[in-house]
Amino acid sequence: MTRRVTVLGATGSIGDSTLDILSRAEVGAFQIISLTANTNSKKLAALAIKYKAEFVALADSRNANDLRSRLSGTQVEIGVGPGALIEAARRPCDFTMAAIIGAAGLEPTLAAVDQGIHIGLANKECLVCAGDLFMARVKAAGASLLPVDSEHNAIFQVLEADAPQGVKRLILTASGGPFRETSVAKLKDMVPKDALAHPVWDMGAKISIDSATLMNKGLELIEAAYLFDRPSSEIDVIVHPQSIIHSMVEYIDGSVLAQMGSPDMRTPIAYALGWPARMAAPVERLDFSKINGLTFFEPDTARFPALRLAREALECGGQGPCVLNAANEIAVAAFLKNEIGFMDIPAIVERSIEWFCQGTDFKNSPDDIEAVLMLDRAARETANHLLKAL
Ligand code: NDP
Repeated sequence: MTRRVTVLGATGSIGDSTLDILSRAEVGAFQIISLTANTNSKKLAALAIKYKAEFVALADSRNANDLRSRLSGTQVEIGVGPGALIEAARRPCDFTMAAIIGAAGLEPTLAAVDQGIHIGLANKECLVCAGDLFMARVKAAGASLLPVDSEHNAIFQVLEADAPQGVKRLILTASGGPFRETSVAKLKDMVPKDALAHPVWDMGAKISIDSATLMNKGLELIEAAYLFDRPSSEIDVIVHPQSIIHSMVEYIDGSVLAQMGSPDMRTPIAYALGWPARMAAPVERLDFSKINGLTFFEPDTARFPALRLAREALECGGQGPCVLNAANEIAVAAFLKNEIGFMDIPAIVERSIEWFCQGTDFKNSPDDIEAVLMLDRAARETANHLLKAL
């Protein structure tokens, strides 16, 4: 039976890997319904033609004419602006890959969730911003949430084999990023080019910077807490530079189950696309005779304060995770434009949280998605204001 697939964030790194897996599947196994992008009209049009998409949505209207001219004479329907992302997500399908970067993915992902279909969740920020509300929508719609982040996908695979009973703790592995061995004194001089050079994973710019600050692991910690309904005290992070073990689950009898594989996002993507069956992925196979040891270290939260800030935000709850995420998105964008230094990223996040901490509502979670979006906007304004004061 043909499965109808939508890819939100089709022009990005996860979008590329998803479409690569789909292009290798048996002819007729999948049909592309919607593809979306922010500004990249050239790539979006090329993908729409290659994969015979029904509908494309471009969030930013500035390249709309370019998109229209590239798709003129084709059958592809075109939508422009944020509303078009929602339309793309609402078109009936069986599986949606949620791979927009940042909180911008929240509303389109929720629109897909409301269809009650299988959701491949790459966009961790939407769960960080709207945790309980997001999970409640998944439950209400009867959707199946399939984690694509390799760590959460690993835990999902392990838990599935042994229903989540008798779990003592989840152990998220972290590669440690490009600055794993860089001293504090040198960290402050790191520029975008250094931070983008991830030693193991090939990813989009924002998540690469998050990996360098360890904020990515912090966002994943919060993501894991909501996805697997665990308190912060039952989720540990360990640095594992080889990125072969993608995460582990420890059970009350002392057993630790791990999922392993080459560091290639096409494995968790194929898992989500095929679930509950397994699907082939063209990834390098692990050759255990060539693995030169597996090593593990405690993360250094003195050099990488972002991980501490994320844990504090999770433990505080309320507005904490949403403010953390919004401030981080603003700080990372400024760093990528060379407007601030590397260590200014966690500093802006910390000061933004301190600012919101003074409010009487800080410990109260937003009541609905509208309130999440308002808080996200307010946190961005605060972070922008603090950036100017640096
Ligand atoms: P990329 O930056 O490579 O791609 C992001 C996608 O989102 C692009 O299609 C981009 O369009 C689109 N986009 C950007 N901003 C907006 C916006 N404001 N509105 C609508 N669409 C937008 O990101 P990645 O693929 O690396 O990451 C996507 C998500 O997956 C993130 O949440 C990340 O944390 C998560 N993830 C990624 C992994 C990876 O290996 N890359 C691993 C695990 C999780 P355009 O091209 O036009 O800018």
